Amino acid sequence: MSTSRKIVIVGAGVAGAILARRLSALPGLSVTCLERVAPDDHSEAGTGLNVGPNAIKALRACDPSLADEVIRQSLPWARWRTSLADGTVLFDLPLARVADNAGIRIRIRWSELYRILRSGAGPAIRYGCEVTSIGPDPADALRTRVSWTENGMPHAIDGVDLLIGTDGRYSATRAAFSGLPEARHVGVAILRVLVQDRSNGLVDDYEQWFNRHHRLLAFRVPPDHIYIAGTYPIESGTAIPDEWKTPEGMRRAFLPEGREASPAVRWLVDAMCEQSAHAHWARMQESDVRFAEPVRQVLYLGDSAHGMAPTLGQGATQAMEDASCAAMLIEAAVRAGQNEVRQWLDSIEIARRERIRFAMELSVRATDTMLHGADPVAGAQWKTEAPFINDLTRLFRDVALGQPS
Ligand SMILES: Cc1cc2nc3c(=O)[nH]c(=O)nc-3n(C[C@H](O)[C@H](O)[C@H](O)COP(=O)(O)OP(=O)(O)OC[C@H]3O[C@@H](n4cnc5c(N)ncnc54)[C@H](O)[C@@H]3O)c2cc1C
Repeated sequence: MSTSRKIVIVGAGVAGAILARRLSALPGLSVTCLERVAPDDHSEAGTGLNVGPNAIKALRACDPSLADEVIRQSLPWARWRTSLADGTVLFDLPLARVADNAGIRIRIRWSELYRILRSGAGPAIRYGCEVTSIGPDPADALRTRVSWTENGMPHAIDGVDLLIGTDGRYSATRAAFSGLPEARHVGVAILRVLVQDRSNGLVDDYEQWFNRHHRLLAFRVPPDHIYIAGTYPIESGTAIPDEWKTPEGMRRAFLPEGREASPAVRWLVDAMCEQSAHAHWARMQESDVRFAEPVRQVLYLGDSAHGMAPTLGQGATQAMEDASCAAMLIEAAVRAGQNEVRQWLDSIEIARRERIRFAMELSVRATDTMLHGADPVAGAQWKTEAPFINDLTRLFRDVALGQPS
């Protein structure tokens, strides 16, 4: 009997591209990774991304040369500084204190991360594939079937031994088997812009500035841009007011009243106002965790498995941890001749479930300073104390890559 396993990966984003590269290099697996966009399409270009040291640590363990390439093309993140909008520093944390790989937390332009990860996977990814249906294989209780169009032509694979949904927050894979999870809003709206760096060095490493409960966050990304994110408390279920999206609304939120703003904050607010028409607006939210279907051999990783509040920059970070973990566990099983897909799924879920619960809970807890009426001084204070520093150390150091079953 053949021990070859048919794997279909839906979506070559952060998690899918890492997996496609590793799994397609393994003997005994036939891997098809379907990505809807064209190879040079970076539809999310225009924003920034900071990836935690834990993602780099996990990727290094799984795929050292890919990790090196990501690091080479990005800027390091060495500090996390929090100040008031007038420049008064509230805390200034060297990441070396809480992370193993000090100085290699990275910032990267969104489109660059996709480009690097996808080019690492080479021909393992098929682009321009619009998935048209995902569902059970009618001839088999465990396996699945995927149909798609590519260059206008219909294609299908049935008898899929392992279907991996790495198709992001609005996962069609998850919707097909268990329905999309409901989003839980955490009470904060966020605006993001990417601007040309004309700050003359005012903005460089990761920094946050608070004006009451409004948080401005910025950092420099390659080649010469600055990523800016601003937050507003918002009640669940209410629409984002148009007034917030105007330059006047932005100045009211982020410039202190009756005090001079720091030069960096003045520059950032001016740059943000100039780009107000191009800002990306969203609500911070999270959703329930699901890694695998109980009967069908379907795995979810990254945003399709767990929507994450973005406060600690853990969305793409945990997608990288998930993918590194899954790739390493599947590889170990295949090399040991252990071809039971259900056991692969169980070992991935065991490795990741508690880790993700912890990252999600900490991300929501750290959002306190952005909620309505929050006091940024008190909010920064508890983040300098041992319990939070210990949690941050656990987040950045204790990557969960699991044990082969
Ligand atoms: C503006 C913004 C800023 C962010 N900043 C940060 C940050 O600083 N740090 C951080 O860690 N995280 C950040 N995140 C979150 C992070 O981007 C996500 O958590 C991460 O991209 C999830 O990775 P993923 O692999 O699960 O999905 P994605 O990266 O979303 O990839 C999903 C892929 O699936 C493809 N796809 C979807 N549906 C289909 C289909 N039906 N058929 C074929 N292909 C399909 C998509 O085209 C895409 O390529 C940010 C998110 C946003 C929106």
